[in-house]
Amino acid sequence: MDKIGAIEAGGTKMVLAVCNKAGSIIERREIPTTEPSDCLPKIIAWFKGRNIGSLGIGAFGPTCVNPKDPRFGQILDTPKVGWRHFNFLNALSESFHVPIGYDTDANAACLGEVVFGAAKGLDHVVYVTVGTGIGVGVMVRGHLLHGMLHPEAGHIRITKEINDIGKSVCPYHSDCLEGLASGPSIESRWGNRAENLAKQFEVWDLESSYLAKGLATYILCYSPQRIILGGGVMYQKQLFPLIRRKVLESLGGYISTPEIHSINNYIIPPGCHGDQGILGAVELARQACDI
Ligand code: ADP
Ligand code: ZN
Repeated sequence: MDKIGAIEAGGTKMVLAVCNKAGSIIERREIPTTEPSDCLPKIIAWFKGRNIGSLGIGAFGPTCVNPKDPRFGQILDTPKVGWRHFNFLNALSESFHVPIGYDTDANAACLGEVVFGAAKGLDHVVYVTVGTGIGVGVMVRGHLLHGMLHPEAGHIRITKEINDIGKSVCPYHSDCLEGLASGPSIESRWGNRAENLAKQFEVWDLESSYLAKGLATYILCYSPQRIILGGGVMYQKQLFPLIRRKVLESLGGYISTPEIHSINNYIIPPGCHGDQGILGAVELARQACDI
């Protein structure tokens, strides 16, 4: 019973894994995020035969992450059919009578990087995923940041670049970071998927300008010791030097710390190479066992 179940529940796909206590992945499976009535029985059936002693979940948001709130584990106002107000955690705890840890997907990925990846030993960390959306996980003083809800820092307002003819893809905001810099926004602006635009400098020049604005704000507000950038769009490694330079420009020399002076080690890719979400879920499960 000491195997750990882990779920990275994304808006597009669910990654399920069984791991040992040290965080090595023994088995994994991916299923599309269909409606709960289709998806949940598949998740339950997969874990049922695998004898897990605890479970960790990193879920797409917005979702209630406050254990004292009666809505704990519920997906809140999402446009995803069937998931709105669905209590994901309760649906699983009815089937698995084991300790369960629950947080957002971005917070889980942040935790995965702190425990297993590129932010080991740090206790103030920001993790940004640039994919279908832009999600931000935040660790402060060694704890994942919650509060009234949880950080939704992908939706901070951003000054639009004057030469940008693209329109925000966020249904709520005409000029938020997710609306202007997520993978779908790149596709809508340039008429091609981001992965097919690798050689077009103007795409990454604009993208890095937006991401740098977001990061400069996170640096000023959260004061992280390191920022990890993951998600599909960040596979474009040419973004990193552009973002670093523009973050420094944006800060204007005002923040002068050893971390900022070593910017190449400050804004970096994930050390878990894509497994940060699932490994963070493993740590959530381990922490749930200690409570
Ligand atoms: P999700 O956010 O759904 O979990 P991803 O992080 O893979 O999944 O994000 C998907 C987005 O990332 C899509 O918009 C896709 O076009 C973009 N993307 C995926 N791979 C790459 C790549 N190699 N280069 C640039 N963009 C990519
Ligand atoms: Zn928005």
